[in-house]
Amino acid sequence: MKKVSNIAVLTSGGDAPGMNAAVRAVVRTGIYHQLNVYGVMYGYRGMLKNEIFPLESKSVANIIQRGGTILKTARCKEFYEAEGRQKAYENLKKHNIDGIVVIGGDGSFNGAYKMSQEFDIPCIGLPGTIDKDIAGTDFTIGFDTAVNTAVDAIDKIRDTADAHDRLFVIEVMGRDAGYIALHSGISTGAEHIMTPEHLIDVQDIIEDLQTNERRRKLVNIIVVAEGSIAGGAEEVARQVKASCPQLDTRVCILGHIQRGGSPSCQDRILASRMGYAAVEALLNGTSNVMVGIVNNKIQYTPLEQAIKAKEHLDPEWLKMVKILAS
Ligand code: ADP
Repeated sequence: MKKVSNIAVLTSGGDAPGMNAAVRAVVRTGIYHQLNVYGVMYGYRGMLKNEIFPLESKSVANIIQRGGTILKTARCKEFYEAEGRQKAYENLKKHNIDGIVVIGGDGSFNGAYKMSQEFDIPCIGLPGTIDKDIAGTDFTIGFDTAVNTAVDAIDKIRDTADAHDRLFVIEVMGRDAGYIALHSGISTGAEHIMTPEHLIDVQDIIEDLQTNERRRKLVNIIVVAEGSIAGGAEEVARQVKASCPQLDTRVCILGHIQRGGSPSCQDRILASRMGYAAVEALLNGTSNVMVGIVNNKIQYTPLEQAIKAKEHLDPEWLKMVKILAS
């Protein structure tokens, strides 16, 4: 088993609250085990540009509660090419780096997997994405914070919707996955939830709204994932307005506020446990895995499986939404 001595940590792809807590855990666990820990700025782009700096324990002081990422994040086209990865590897070698922790989504894991295959450098992935769409873990770093931000916003919108008897179509993030929509929708008592995984006919929603109108239930909230099969909030609202012009229908797109803010307690703990486990894995000679938490226990999944597999929403949840909102 090759012993690691110099490890690097980077945040890559879409940002997520809690990434800083993960960086802190990697740095402090590494230093505890007498490793030299380096930070790579701007994800793979910084690896290609040799933006690699040593980190000390105090470099990560006072960041556990901060959103964003002190290491910054970016997307990097050159890393898709073998030539770009070669350049990145050469930069890592300049610092004698022999182990990497990548905090990001499945795209970032794809890149890490390729590099580990080409250059025999152990890579550990930590799932950092607000979308929670990675197999091999029950939760991803950032999801809980994002969903709580959405819940907070939707609660406020419901107050004003209630005051004016309005229908609000609220768009939350989730291009390919409906977890934010589903969780925020259920916990705010949304009447309808639209996700990228399930085809929900807008016509059925319109019929339901008309029934509600007859019952004098005029306040309705429809939570729409940005990638919902029926389209985003603007499109859903357009169809509703065309069929129900008498309803006072408004659109609210929550947007990037869902990515920011101080991470929740759950995300800080998740990130801390995962960062700690990532370094332990490198020290134990485990490589090319993603650290996940399943049934509250650390679980390692080969990077290539964390890439490919997608979990699916339980249709029972959608049935429940209908019953609870009726
Ligand atoms: P996320 O990690 O949030 O899913 P991206 O899909 O944008 O975000 O991936 C982040 C970066 O990872 C990309 O900009 C690219 O540098 C690298 N990457 C993604 N997919 C691959 C791939 N198939 N091969 C090599 N590198 C990749």
